[in-house]
Formats: sequence, C-alpha cells, structure tokens
Amino acid sequence: MQKTVDNPFLKQAAPGISGLHPYIPGKPISELEREFGISAPLKLASNENPLGASPKAKAAVANLLDELALYPDGGGFELRSALAAFHDTEAEAITLGNGSNDVLDLIARTFLAPGSEAVFSEYAFAVYPICTQAVGATSRVAPAHDGSIGPRFGHNLQAMRELVSDKTRVVFIANPNNPTGTWLPKDELLAFIDHLPSEVIVVVDEAYTEYVEETAYPDATQWLEAYPNLIVTRTFSKAYGLAGLRVGYGLSHPDLAELLNRVRQPFNVNAPALAAALAALGDQGHIQQSVAVNRAGMAQLIAGFKRLGLDYIPSVGNFVCVDVGRPGAEVDAKLLREGCITRPIGGYGMPRHLRITVGLEDENRRLLETLESVLK
Ligand SMILES: *Cc1c(COP(=O)(O)O)cnc(C)c1O
Repeated sequence: MQKTVDNPFLKQAAPGISGLHPYIPGKPISELEREFGISAPLKLASNENPLGASPKAKAAVANLLDELALYPDGGGFELRSALAAFHDTEAEAITLGNGSNDVLDLIARTFLAPGSEAVFSEYAFAVYPICTQAVGATSRVAPAHDGSIGPRFGHNLQAMRELVSDKTRVVFIANPNNPTGTWLPKDELLAFIDHLPSEVIVVVDEAYTEYVEETAYPDATQWLEAYPNLIVTRTFSKAYGLAGLRVGYGLSHPDLAELLNRVRQPFNVNAPALAAALAALGDQGHIQQSVAVNRAGMAQLIAGFKRLGLDYIPSVGNFVCVDVGRPGAEVDAKLLREGCITRPIGGYGMPRHLRITVGLEDENRRLLETLESVLK
C-alpha cells in the first residue's frame, strides 16, 4: 500500500497533529549496513555513551532472563528508593519514565491542553514541541541568543520570560541544551525560576548533567524544596549508557509527582530497565570514567575542528555542533557513504551544522579524518 501525499486521515486527527513531523533519530547502524553495504560503520549521532553500559548493569539484565514472563514492579519501588537516597529526597518525589522523554510527555499530558501554552527556546530539544502539540496545546518559541549578550544559539531567558502569559502552563528548559550544548549558569536560571508565576510548571531537563564540569553550572534538584512548581528530569540514556533500555525520571514536589503518576502507564518502565538502572546508579565509577573519556574526546574533536578551520558551538555535553560551511545534509550524505553517521540538524533551523557525539579516541580520529576528506 502506498502512502498518500496529503494524508486523508489528518482531518480526523487531533488539531495539534497537523503541525508535527516525526522525530528523525540518528540513523541506526543496521540501516546504514543495509543501505550502503558498509560494515562496521561509526555512529556518533545519538549522544550514546561510547563505553557502553556499566558491566554491573549488563549483569543485572542477564540475571533477569528467568523473570521475563512477569510484569515489572509497576511502582518501581527499588529504583525509586535508590534514587531517593541518591538525591537525598523521598521516593514520592520521583516519577519514573520510559526514558525521560516519557516524563516530558507525562508533564504535557498532565498540564497542557487545547488553549494552553508551553514556552521553550528556539533550538531547544525537539521533544518539547512534539509533546506540547500532541495534546493540542500551543508552542511559544522564544528566539535564542544571537551572540550579542549570551552564548549564540543558547536559551535567552529574558525572551522566554516575555512569552509567559496567563495561558502558560509549562516552561521547558534544557540545561545543557541538545543539540546546541549551550548551558545556563546558576544565578541566571535561579533568578528566572524565582520570577515565574508559581502556577507555571518549570521543567529543567538535565539529561547531560553528569558531563558538565563548569563550576557555575547548577544542580536544579537543589531547588526543589524552595520551588514546588519545579520538575527536574534526568535520564539513564546518556552518561549511564542505557539508551536502549529506556529509563529516565522526574524529581519534583510529591504533589506534582502524584499527578504525573495518575497519567503514567502502569508498567511504563520494563523489568530489565529497572534492574539495569538500579545497578548503573550503584556504579558511579563508570560515570567518572565516562566523564573522563568525554573530556578527552571533546578536546580532541575541538582541536580537530580548529585544525580544519571549522567553527563550532562550545558544548558542555557529550556532543558538539560544528559548522561545516555548507549544507549539513550534503556533508552528512557524504559521511554516510564513508560509514560515518552524524546528525544533520536542519530540522532545528541549523542547516550548516552537524551534531557530533564525542566518541572514543579512535572513533574521533576516524570521524575527523573522514570529515576532512569529504570537505576537500
Ligand atoms: C537525550 C535527551 C533526553 C532524554 O532521552 P531519553 O532517552 O528519553 O531519556 C532528554 N532531553 C534531552 C535534552 C536529550 O538530549
């Protein structure tokens, strides 16, 4: 059966769906192998941990094979207890998600509806418009910094504040942001949250927090006591190396968590994911090692970009956007033929940038060499 150009079912779909496009993920390795017959491609497209998961997490999954016929613990008791101890809070403050994207979606389904609005920044993470518009609410997108005062492409909190109105229910902030890698310092972010009306839910998405080493970078979980309208999201997909299992969580006032848990599907986090996340949380040595690998790899990529005369956006995450000086999609197509998967981000309004995940030393070298040859 053929897809039609103008989808006839769009008329019946909820109003927000017409403005949406499917999220385009990094090309899976298997797809490149199928399409180009390339073996052992290099994937630096989805901000995955190049060291993989902690061996303890792998062992926890292996130990679970005899329990696959059973439903998981729908309340995630053990993982929530461990997270509560880790964050020095109570289990009632934690909402588990099938990845933190699921938590973002729960927030939208709980607080947004047709007629209400969510505010976020230009170049912000693509999931914010998806979950906002999927429930029929309106996205209000604040222009990012142009480089005159704050970091170019970074969230402009002043511009975001100007879009907050009596229709605003949720503000999404990624710190650091993906795809730009830009970040907000403590004083600035805290002042923004402090000046928001207390009925507005403010979501601080800290998917990459483990990687950030700047001293002025805040841990927004420290503000939960003072701001009951704050939700901080974290994930096991990035530094913890468990992207394939899908587990993330929100931290908030228990009253907010209680509402999110009303909307949550009862078994949204599967049993291997619960077990692996628990084990991974207990292996902070693996996180430290991952952060060290990232620090060295980021320096290597940046040195390479400088050598090639390419501009890049300074990033505190495990990825960096490089301006290839021509349409990123063209360069991406050439890189794919050479077996390198990166992420063109034209869909974010950044047509000349590629987002590149920091890999292992050999991987970074291969990427830089291939980039040099396709740019010649
Ligand atoms: C990757 C990412 C997430 C989370 O992804 P999950 O795998 O669903 O946990 C959340 N926010 C940002 C900004 C990200 O880049």
